[in-house]
Amino acid sequence: MKTFDTIVVGAGFAGSVIAHRLATEQNKKVLIIEKREHIGGNCYDYVDDNGVNIHKYGPHLFHTDNEEVYAFLKSLGELENYQHHVEAFIDGQNVPIPFNLNTIEKLFPPSLVKAFEEKLLEHYDYNQKVPILELREKDDDKLKALADYIYEKVFVNYTAKQWGMKPEEIDAAVTARVPVLIGKDNRYFHDRYQVVPKKGYTRLFETMLGHENIKLLLQTGFDEVCAIEENKVMLFGQPFAGKVIYTGPIDELFGYEYGALEYRSIDLQFETVEKAYFQHLPVVNYPNDYDYTRITEFKHIHPVNTEKTTILKEYPQAYAAGKNVPYYPVFTEENRQRYEQYSRRAALVENMVLVGRLAEFKYYDMDDVIERALSVYRNECGV
Ligand code: FAD
Ligand code: UDP
Repeated sequence: MKTFDTIVVGAGFAGSVIAHRLATEQNKKVLIIEKREHIGGNCYDYVDDNGVNIHKYGPHLFHTDNEEVYAFLKSLGELENYQHHVEAFIDGQNVPIPFNLNTIEKLFPPSLVKAFEEKLLEHYDYNQKVPILELREKDDDKLKALADYIYEKVFVNYTAKQWGMKPEEIDAAVTARVPVLIGKDNRYFHDRYQVVPKKGYTRLFETMLGHENIKLLLQTGFDEVCAIEENKVMLFGQPFAGKVIYTGPIDELFGYEYGALEYRSIDLQFETVEKAYFQHLPVVNYPNDYDYTRITEFKHIHPVNTEKTTILKEYPQAYAAGKNVPYYPVFTEENRQRYEQYSRRAALVENMVLVGRLAEFKYYDMDDVIERALSVYRNECGV
């Protein structure tokens, strides 16, 4: 069958960026297979009954230092500057996160504030970012006391809820995403470009996929139209000779042949609140209270004048195939080795490329996945 040049499995950023480029730059015919009833993957958003734009799969804030990725996003639609702020509810009050010098000033009496600040600046440069697990290793009693406090109040219980593990039991890069800042910038991210799409993320995907060369099959799983036989991808029972971009979970693709890869999922509970605003900023983390990790109020991300507001509480939970959504890869040595087996298995399949957070089992942010997709397009899609 030579109707399509390329099959893309999954209409998230990984699949959509590649499909868009193939269709617009090379005039290729692309078939996208997406098992959900909508495009956008986990970045899908829509305006709910309260008139608020909500992110169906959890809050998505775009931030990057990558010029190419930013230029690409900008080419898809209008973007608005948006600097994300988060606070954590600690000992009865909201304090800035990432933990920084302002947080210290809110939590400690002036004499201690001065002592901690002096100590930090003796060991680190102003504006330096220090992962909590590194700060805890410092051979200095005062710094150690501060590090233990931050570890206990910010990280240990949040991480227990989110991952079911202690911070030191998960990949150090995970807690290092939210380092202690030896400075006074309260923003959650410090990247050069921080934006939200003016008309929402879904609109950007409509722009990417609304091309006559792209045929989109929604509510269709890979298995329903494709199969892997003797290391060849079959489409509608016929060998498919073109490239296959696979962005779904890799263990599922191979029938869990080497066992299931572990993910964390989240029970996302949206609530309507009968007042204009619920909280004074977009996200408040609850490391030590309640079963949820954080509350997002979307109106702060996509401002709108409505009488009601929509909030989201995130209750992390274990992932079970077919029951909930695989959101976060769990990076244990066992999972890493298992992933390597799947990756070697996938390499045997002719013309198949694995791209994205699920297929590559990586904690990719949106900019990482766009960067990866642009690179796969450039290097492996006949450019
Ligand atoms: P996905 O978006 O997961 O897309 C994969 C698509 O493939 C899905 O639509 C799925 O339905 C489909 N699919 C899977 N298997 C099959 C199959 N067998 N057949 C057909 N279709 C299939 N990043 C940021 O930069 N900033 C943030 O603030 C941020 N917040 C996040 C919050 C949460 C709760 C989560 C979970 C992620 C967050 N991310 C954030 C990360 C972001 O969601 C990812 O980087 C991005 O969505 C990855 O895109 P992807 O295409 O790899 O995967
Ligand atoms: N984290 C924490 N307390 C916080 C914020 C983050 O312990 O208040 C840890 C936790 O382990 C979390 C990780 O840092 O999973 C990364 O946080 P981030 O906000 O980047 O997570 P995401 O937005 O991807 O869910």
